[in-house]
Amino acid sequence: TLSRANAVSVRSEMSYVMIKPDGVQRGLVGDIISRFERKGFQLKGLKLYQTPQAVAEEHYKDLKEKPFYPALVGYICSGPVVCMVWEGKGVVASARKLIGATNPLASEPGTIRGDFAIEVGRNVIHGSDSPENGERETAIWFGSEGLVEWTPTMTPWLKE
Ligand code: GDP
Ligand code: MG
Repeated sequence: TLSRANAVSVRSEMSYVMIKPDGVQRGLVGDIISRFERKGFQLKGLKLYQTPQAVAEEHYKDLKEKPFYPALVGYICSGPVVCMVWEGKGVVASARKLIGATNPLASEPGTIRGDFAIEVGRNVIHGSDSPENGERETAIWFGSEGLVEWTPTMTPWLKE
């Protein structure tokens, strides 16, 4: 197809970003997606998803020994989440800045957690902490064929 022919073959950095069940229930989905769109990152995957326990456990497997791990898995599975993959130069670190510190009381105003949350156990959103985890988490939540390759028409207005 035309879009395939025009697709840039070099895949740049990806962040797996997820609006957690509290963000969905509180009606924050549109506001949060807008922040990533306005920044200029490219949306490569998007879905509303009721998380199976095994998927939440795999995603957070590095935190398995933490005392809050069972509550964390329960929280993530407590209602639908919005799963996204955003791509672009420096997207992992930039998304973490847009998201704010893990503890929302320490998050700066203007960040998503700084604007919308109070407690670490209800902190509205996830973002990958490294490019490697961006790849790992994208594979967990979207598999190998869940992303869309496309070329936004505004690319020349975002990339020099
Ligand atoms: P993140 O990368 O900023 O999301 O933070 P971490 O990777 O350290 O932790 C993953 C998630 O576990 C956080 O976003 C919180 O939802 C949760 N979490 C982390 N620390 C705590 C804690 O001390 N208590 C509780 N209840 N949840 C926590
Ligand atoms: Mg983390």
